[in-house]
Amino acid sequence: MKLSVPDYIQTISPYIAGKPMEELEREYGIKNPVKIASNENPLGPSPKALKAVEAALKNLHRYPDAGAYYLVNKLAEKLSVSPGNIVLGTGSDEVIGMLTRVFLQPGDEAILSEHSFLMYEIMIRCDGAVPVWVPLKSLEIDLEEMKRRITPKTRMIFLTSPNNPTGMIIRKKEFDRFIEGISPEIVIVLDEAYIEFATDPECLKGLDYLNSGRAIVTLRTFSKIYGLAGLRIGYGVMPQEMASLLNRVRQAFNTNSLAQIAATAALDDDEFLQKTLTTVRDGLKFLYAALNEMGVSYFPTQSNFFLIDVKQSADDVFKRMLKQGVIVRSMSSYGLPQYIRINAGLPDENAQFIEAFKQVL
Ligand SMILES: *Cc1c(COP(=O)(O)O)cnc(C)c1O
Repeated sequence: MKLSVPDYIQTISPYIAGKPMEELEREYGIKNPVKIASNENPLGPSPKALKAVEAALKNLHRYPDAGAYYLVNKLAEKLSVSPGNIVLGTGSDEVIGMLTRVFLQPGDEAILSEHSFLMYEIMIRCDGAVPVWVPLKSLEIDLEEMKRRITPKTRMIFLTSPNNPTGMIIRKKEFDRFIEGISPEIVIVLDEAYIEFATDPECLKGLDYLNSGRAIVTLRTFSKIYGLAGLRIGYGVMPQEMASLLNRVRQAFNTNSLAQIAATAALDDDEFLQKTLTTVRDGLKFLYAALNEMGVSYFPTQSNFFLIDVKQSADDVFKRMLKQGVIVRSMSSYGLPQYIRINAGLPDENAQFIEAFKQVL
């Protein structure tokens, strides 16, 4: 078969996801593996969300609310923005795709950090645009170098804070210096998938720039702290002019009814949020202490995951950990072939990881 496909589609490398539990059980015959590879919530989903989903199951024959009225209004109230500033997606991933589709044309340039979230590059390439990579500087996003790389073709800049996979934040004062002198029409996408975990008071908050007259989009998700990754729901907050453009390319029923209902209920589940934060912070403390004792280097995080320098092939370490029943993430697909990334799990998962890690090293 001879298919005619644009070169920019041919050359996309497909996203390599963390191994699903079921596959591990199938391939290695391991039961109940510890999965700390995808930055998921170790406590499971928000109980309030679960209850709301159970009650809503009997309505699955209905189409979802295309405008997601309840969720959008609740979010708007919580974030002190107007409903017209919010665009929902099947995960914030989909919002990234809507942004690139609306704002990028073949030949345009989009600036992003090396080793950043793989979906940015995939979406940029889907629209025939050119990713312009800027190396990290001591594992931090190098805003000064990003600014130097702006050309008349630059249409978008992707920033992540806290960053995945490094766990590091962008500081507000550095961002303010960065945007000074940049054309307000360049779309700045600030991905805050992990913002709820950040404790550093200097951390940039994208929502502060909603009315700055700049094309700044803040991305958030229900996949991490709310524990709803499987339902696929996230959102972008942006100036209304941008939101109305995204709504032209958005599929009417993009977010499903259960996702909308679960997310709406999860927004009220403060108890679950607090419990998640405590579990993650205690987990990190335990893991740091155990790794210190082992003399292993790692990078302290402002998120729920962090990088460990294994000083050998991360793909090998990944495979050997798998045989011990622990799923970690090799960072080779992120261009960091000697690093693994793990997220804080439950206390016994963290302990099992350390035990297995001692064996493997
Ligand atoms: C997990 C993650 C997201 C969230 O993706 P969803 O599509 O909302 O599940 C977005 N950005 C980064 C950097 C992430 O790590």
